[in-house]
Amino acid sequence: MRRGNFKVRLFIGLAVVAFAFIRKCSQEEINPYTGKKQAISLSPEQEIAIGLQSAPSMARQHGGLHPDNRYQALVDNVGNKLVNNSIAKNTPYKYEFHLLADERTINAFALPGGQIFITYALFAKLQNEDQLAGVLGHEIGHVLGKHSNERITSANFWKVIAMGGSAIDLGGVAQQYGQGQLLKNGRGDELESDELGVHFMIEAGYNPEEMIGVMEILKSAAGPNRVPEFQSTHPDPENRIEKIKEAINKYRKAS
Ligand SMILES: [Zn+2]
Repeated sequence: MRRGNFKVRLFIGLAVVAFAFIRKCSQEEINPYTGKKQAISLSPEQEIAIGLQSAPSMARQHGGLHPDNRYQALVDNVGNKLVNNSIAKNTPYKYEFHLLADERTINAFALPGGQIFITYALFAKLQNEDQLAGVLGHEIGHVLGKHSNERITSANFWKVIAMGGSAIDLGGVAQQYGQGQLLKNGRGDELESDELGVHFMIEAGYNPEEMIGVMEILKSAAGPNRVPEFQSTHPDPENRIEKIKEAINKYRKAS
């Protein structure tokens, strides 16, 4: 291979990487609800639209909505109580809480813009309303934290970096590093959502200690062969419990 050729490719690669960084800087803003600086590329309206668009297929993947209206009403009640007593109320997001029929997968999740889901499998394991508030509060935290928005933006950033890297045969390295970054950020999102969830629980008059109860449930659900923390987007429950205790102290003093 001729040296001149490499120089051209290096120039192109660097130009693409520079473009990615400049764009990322232009996308950076302070999240008004968490105070965190983050690069995001979707407006709240776009987040809401994506959430509404994906909600039906998410529900279908979990056996659709649960048929018992009393359980659904409880989920609505607790979710709305959290929203109406916290900063979640002062956002453009449209919150909807869905109980999914799935009796096997212990899970809860949020789509951008406010579509929030809990499976019956997790719902049935909860021992009290405070724990339900813990789960829903955590998910509201993902919405306010704009975590999906940030992940989408970050994935696009690393795609462009990998493109620039491939000009000098470093595309694979860039891609791997990018995936590692996404995992690392994913763990940060969980901890931030736990903290926000604790805050919302206190504001809505729930017992924040029950967030620890939720972690215990998740821990026993994962079983002894659970994925080591560093390989998973979900931080170890023990690690999360430590941070939850810190958050309880922080917000109890403040209120
Ligand atoms: Zn989460």
